[in-house]
Amino acid sequence: MNLKINTQITIIGGGIGGLATALALQRRGFRVDVYERAKEIREVGAGVIITANARRALCDLGVDAELEAMSSTIDIFHTCHFATGAILRAVSGEEISRKVGAASLGVYRADLHSVLMASVLAHDPDCLHASHEFVGLEQDETGVMVKFAHGASARSDVVVGADGNASAVRSFLFPDEAPKFAGQVAYRSLIPIALVPDSVRERGSIMSAGPGRYLLCYPLRGGQIMNLIGLVQSGEWEEEGWTTPATHAEFAQTFAGFEPDLIELIHRIPQGELFKWGLRDREPLQNWTVGRVTTLGDAAHPMTPFLGQGACMAIEDGLILARAFAESSTVQEALARYEAVRKPRGTMVQLASREEGLSLQDPSKKRRTAQDRGLMDYDPVTVPV
Ligand SMILES: Cc1cc2nc3c(=O)[nH]c(=O)nc-3n(C[C@H](O)[C@H](O)[C@H](O)COP(=O)(O)OP(=O)(O)OC[C@H]3O[C@@H](n4cnc5c(N)ncnc54)[C@H](O)[C@@H]3O)c2cc1C
Repeated sequence: MNLKINTQITIIGGGIGGLATALALQRRGFRVDVYERAKEIREVGAGVIITANARRALCDLGVDAELEAMSSTIDIFHTCHFATGAILRAVSGEEISRKVGAASLGVYRADLHSVLMASVLAHDPDCLHASHEFVGLEQDETGVMVKFAHGASARSDVVVGADGNASAVRSFLFPDEAPKFAGQVAYRSLIPIALVPDSVRERGSIMSAGPGRYLLCYPLRGGQIMNLIGLVQSGEWEEEGWTTPATHAEFAQTFAGFEPDLIELIHRIPQGELFKWGLRDREPLQNWTVGRVTTLGDAAHPMTPFLGQGACMAIEDGLILARAFAESSTVQEALARYEAVRKPRGTMVQLASREEGLSLQDPSKKRRTAQDRGLMDYDPVTVPV
């Protein structure tokens, strides 16, 4: 059987993972439909670091150069003493590039999303379906019927759940695996570069870890915007989602004792640009696939952000899934190949991110970045599938 001619693939979720998967499949000749619950298919305005491992996949998808042109190359990554701001470690982009093949990019999420979406639509202008919230599915030996909240349904040969951290597809397949609060609250904001204190702007990218707390800032969009993230251990449950407003006072109070220029940066966040949310984590799954339905990205391996690899893993997953379909003669074979390649890596990075979160916020422990752990050496274009 020729899988390309015969296989119709449904992707649930039009986030970074869903669109990367759609594009990777389209470029290998597959027909895909992406169903997204939001009324409009777009990303929140926030930052994400894209490292060499995912950039190799983006090169394969034909979008890396365009993304690089609209992003910020991380020139030097500074690890600073949380209270004094003294530089403890400086790793240059050139050094990273020499060691792992490409520099890391500070990317505006909406830019990554729109570059992927434009390429997906160029392949098939009718394949994206907004306002389609997945609520359930039925599968038999020949296909899968997915059901949406407004009563519509769609039948296809395969379903890929790329619906994020609180995945409804995953909950449908594995009902006993509820997400749990990971004991960390995150703050996020974007600050126009003109408002950034000089000493912060000059250092560019700063990672500052104090007891139980962690601040990270890096530039986006050719240095026009500074992305600021704060993560703090907390016993208090916080809402999931990216859009709960936070106040300057609570953010600054939470990071009291950090270097004055970073506290000043917090106070300079424009009104309406500061949000918080409670991180969710899940235990690794035994399997990602049931019959003709599989999971991908945060739906398969939701991870805390301490290694900055969640989006990178979703992009890697998408390319490997498409390569597995291109090299298989049945749906079952393709999904088995995908899971065999991706589950060990997804689980490893998921657990390493959790471990890094705890040691990062304990100044007595040594940091082990994604680069230190060799995560950027992975090549999703050539790894055997
Ligand atoms: C503070 C923070 C910083 C981060 N920094 C980095 C970083 O520097 N580098 C990095 O690689 N990663 C980073 N990440 C992680 C990264 O953002 C995620 O891992 C990545 O977005 C996962 O992509 P995804 O497509 O799997 O899920 P998502 O991006 O969550 O997309 C899921 C999509 O599915 C849709 N959806 C949900 N439910 C349904 C449904 N029932 N029906 C239909 N559609 C549905 C959603 O609306 C959404 O569009 C960070 C995360 C956090 C929290």
